[in-house]
Amino acid sequence: MRTQNTALTIALAWALVVGVAAQRGGRGGPPPDSKPTPPADARIEKLKQDAAAEADAMRIFTQQMVDQVFSYGELGFQEIETSKYLTGVLEKNGFTVERGYAGMPTAWVATWGSGKPVIALGSDIDCIPQASQKPGVGYHDPIIAGAPGHGEGHNSGVPLNIAAALAAKKVMEREHIAGTLKLWPGVAEELVGAKAYFVRAGLFKDVDVSLFAHVGNNLGVSWGGGTGTGLVSVEYMFKGESAHAAAAPWRGRSALDAVELMDVAWNFRREHLRLQQRSHNVITNGGDQPNVVPQNAAVWYYFREVDYEHIKELREIGDTMAKAAAMMTNTAVSSRLLGSAWPQHMNKTIAETMYANILQVGLPKWDDTDITLAKGIQTELKQPAIGLATQLGGMRGGLNPADNLGGPSDDIGDVSWNVPTVTLSYPANIPGMPGHNWANAISMATPIAHKGVTAGAKVQAMTIVDMLTRPELVQQAWDYFRTVQTKDQKYVPFVGPDDKPAIWMNAKTLEQYRPEMRKFYYDPTKYKSYLEQLGIKYPTVRTTTGGENR
Ligand SMILES: [Zn+2]
Repeated sequence: MRTQNTALTIALAWALVVGVAAQRGGRGGPPPDSKPTPPADARIEKLKQDAAAEADAMRIFTQQMVDQVFSYGELGFQEIETSKYLTGVLEKNGFTVERGYAGMPTAWVATWGSGKPVIALGSDIDCIPQASQKPGVGYHDPIIAGAPGHGEGHNSGVPLNIAAALAAKKVMEREHIAGTLKLWPGVAEELVGAKAYFVRAGLFKDVDVSLFAHVGNNLGVSWGGGTGTGLVSVEYMFKGESAHAAAAPWRGRSALDAVELMDVAWNFRREHLRLQQRSHNVITNGGDQPNVVPQNAAVWYYFREVDYEHIKELREIGDTMAKAAAMMTNTAVSSRLLGSAWPQHMNKTIAETMYANILQVGLPKWDDTDITLAKGIQTELKQPAIGLATQLGGMRGGLNPADNLGGPSDDIGDVSWNVPTVTLSYPANIPGMPGHNWANAISMATPIAHKGVTAGAKVQAMTIVDMLTRPELVQQAWDYFRTVQTKDQKYVPFVGPDDKPAIWMNAKTLEQYRPEMRKFYYDPTKYKSYLEQLGIKYPTVRTTTGGENR
């Protein structure tokens, strides 16, 4: 009887929220050819409620995990403390951990359960260069000036997945539900450096459903392609001949000249590239000192486009220009692939199932303190002071690829072409931030992130239970994957059989900052929160007089 009542309540709530979403239409509502998956039978809906309640009950633990990883602030391929901590948590909770996965010291796969379906849960763990920032402070105030920090919010996704997995595990154990949970970390996502190698190593070979999570400022999910880009990340190394730059410059051949000529040429060519392309570079080696003709110089490019063919084409143009620059300067050039990402294509069935759960969970309840922090940093950055999300984002999907004008990339794209995948976006951040910036770190160890991650964990846990108990959904997901998504487009990895993950990257930076950063690692045995450990009054924002309100 109690179960039936619960089911009735859920059915009514579902009808109501779907109605509201539909009325809202446009950006807020689901795409016209898409609707949230209808509720399952009463027994399954009850199990989903139980899983969500378990995730909710874990919120203190979730807060500790979010704060802990925030305090580590490790760049791509150097997520040593982060991975040690997260795998420790998983082992303590009965997961079997395989470390050093796919030739990456900070990569791992943690598995629990047995049999089908196999559900993979992934999220990124690396941070952003020079994005160190005190949480809860609404203006630029680094913990350590120049140090890396979580200016993308990647400290929150694996904690979310762990909370969801442990919640689902409890229900699975109690109800003797078959299935395997497989957690994995997005190592070096900012370098799009790992996921193609995970695919190559076979991480997703036996996986039925892949649930990814990425920080955002609302609860949402999407399906299909037609947004963002994929990319290849390539470094060109030029080799010349050194000489005294004043005494015998005619003896030298400058590798830096080649780098500069390539960059100038690329920027002229830009006018004649498709509007969809996005490309950018940094000079990773510009020589040693002016009076020594640079014998070595290097430049690192991200070549982004909206589909596989165009990404390949863009790289070929880059290769040609590098060769031409080498010819002009009588230097030699070689190149290496540092990362790659396929454009994303997300699964319709899983997105619709997840969206139904998003409608049930809803947005967290923000306090005045949360909104004050949000408005504080929005004002500081001269953005509209809109505070935090108060209306659920819609479900986006079925966009026309021809309308795609490009945007960012994520190597979850590679996973999405190998197994039905979606990305859950959860509200741990503040709207209007620039991205890849200290400002994006401000909320990431505050109640905003803690509440947003718990809301996301509930959605994720419910979706896991859906996939475990409703085999028809897994079947539909694969039908979409086989007959729609991959009908005319097959996955061809950008990484070749001889390419290796760029695991040396960022090692020097961490070597430089880690000793100082260690002093600020979060100690949950002494402090309830990282804010408390740092002695930060929440929130700290500038007052209107321009003074600081500490
Ligand atoms: Zn990211």
